[in-house]
Amino acid sequence: STEQLIQDEKISSIFDLAAGVAHELGNPLNSINIHLQLLTRQISKMPKDPATAKMSNALDVCTNEVQRLDGIIANFLQAIRPQPLDLQEAPLLDVLDEVLNFLGDELTNLGVQVDVTVNDEAPVILGDRNQIKQVFFNVLKNAMEAMDAGGELRIASREDDEYVYLSFADTGVGIAQEDLSKIFQPYHTTKSSGHGLGMMICRRIMRDHGGQIGLDSRPESGTVVTLQFPQKHRRMRLLEAGD
Ligand code: ADP
Ligand code: MG
Repeated sequence: STEQLIQDEKISSIFDLAAGVAHELGNPLNSINIHLQLLTRQISKMPKDPATAKMSNALDVCTNEVQRLDGIIANFLQAIRPQPLDLQEAPLLDVLDEVLNFLGDELTNLGVQVDVTVNDEAPVILGDRNQIKQVFFNVLKNAMEAMDAGGELRIASREDDEYVYLSFADTGVGIAQEDLSKIFQPYHTTKSSGHGLGMMICRRIMRDHGGQIGLDSRPESGTVVTLQFPQKHRRMRLLEAGD
């Protein structure tokens, strides 16, 4: 809708600004880091007494926090920057298998039963394999984190003339009604050790592919995430139209 476009437009210019600021923070942060290392080296040459021990501790804290800041900035930039797409023929179910294999042990240990149903043919789209892998990984991880006492993950693919749909239905904790609208916002997380960037990255990647990500959830009964990829011919048309 127009409203959604205006909203997206606003968000995208705020992101440009934020990306600029985040990028600018890199230089002073780097300089702080170099000087912290210098100080650490100096202090290590001083006589070992309680006063130097205190200074050295304080420096360690600073060094760790600088590294943390660096990580936050790197993650943020990764989340909001459009990444160049390396478009190739991507057999979606093969890519999915790779990620499922990678997570295999973890799924088994969690007691999560995975069931893949393929309707129609095995879909092949035009996409960036690595970025699609990242989407699958984030979606699967979220499903697993929602089912910490085990459960069932039903993955299904179907397609029509225009789109390929992949759905991931879990039997996890679900999402509260009032949180549904926040899921794609940066830093929205309900987890103690979450970053709240995964779904935002997924949405960016899906949009870069001319697709969409949708979410349907009920607390207590589980969540369905649906990925919609344009069929190859549709994607080609979009690319030719300069989109
Ligand atoms: P993170 O996983 O670091 O919290 P995400 O952006 O991946 O960040 O997800 C944001 C939030 O969306 C999660 O904290 C969680 O509350 C909710 N969420 C996403 N997927 C699911 C799911 N399958 N089941 C329940 N909640 C989910
Ligand atoms: Mg996540």
